[in-house]
Amino acid sequence: MRYSKEIFSKAYAITAERRTNAETMAQRRRDEVLRVIPEIEEIERKMSSVSLMAAKAVLKGANAKEELEKIAELSKKLRDEKANLMMSHGYRADYMEPQYSCPVCQDTTAVEKDGKTLYCQCFLNTLKDVACDEINKISPLSLSTFDTFSLDKYPYDSNQDGVSPYSRMSKILNFCKNYVANFAAEKPSILMRGATGLGKTHLSLAIANELLNKGYYVVYVSAPAIISKLESAHFEYSAREEEELLSTLCECDLLILDDLGTEFMTPFSKSTIYNLFNTRIMKNKPVIINTNMTIAELESTYSQRFVSRIMSSCVKFDFIGNDIRATK
Ligand SMILES: [Zn+2]
Repeated sequence: MRYSKEIFSKAYAITAERRTNAETMAQRRRDEVLRVIPEIEEIERKMSSVSLMAAKAVLKGANAKEELEKIAELSKKLRDEKANLMMSHGYRADYMEPQYSCPVCQDTTAVEKDGKTLYCQCFLNTLKDVACDEINKISPLSLSTFDTFSLDKYPYDSNQDGVSPYSRMSKILNFCKNYVANFAAEKPSILMRGATGLGKTHLSLAIANELLNKGYYVVYVSAPAIISKLESAHFEYSAREEEELLSTLCECDLLILDDLGTEFMTPFSKSTIYNLFNTRIMKNKPVIINTNMTIAELESTYSQRFVSRIMSSCVKFDFIGNDIRATK
């Protein structure tokens, strides 16, 4: 993925804060230990003069080997003494060491590998986190859960097509719960279709929240909002912003396109939506599309190519319930 300077500096700031916190906590624990076991300070003084001896011995060169062995022995003795003293007071031997969030880079963002300095995996994860958060800000994720999804509002009796909305919706709810549980192994794309107010957004947000809690990168966007954002980046010639946005939309673990409708339809937006969807399907990355359009409407608004791609790659759900228009 590519990231902007802003995303880099946010990720750096987050990592730097983790490092500072780890060090501040370590200093506090150190103050505490020195209050309880003041002798530790004397041992540490001896330890640093031993390392000074070692440095001098190395400088002397030739017959330093024997001397270095003695120094190493002395140094080990002091370390053991310190550790035993701490443990006899109920502290772990590493109690005064900083507990970094990432033990690999010690929250510095960088690791050395084959003589090269690379970004640590933890920093790459933080970059992804920040980039996903930035997009999710465009259409704020409110907290929806499976627990707050009530089946009571769906009629038990069969509708004119002979289907009970209650039983259809309980099947869909179960599918969504299993989807989250099995996401690591199997993650098909989903088309959620049906009138407004039947629970498409609620269920897709519940999926998003559970997967986010499991540590997946989920981007939830309302289709009109993301289209207008991409369009303005494109036509204001902000290539970097457009590329960054598209890269996060293409690379996240799950993309939820809510509210795919007829608004803001230009040749640019139609082809952008198609390319986005197609790229993700080719990469085996799932998309959840929510729409209140019928298949025929989708075909006439977008393209047959888009619809046939959806039909061949998505699990399809028709949400049914009390028809709001009929009850009016
Ligand atoms: Zn790291």
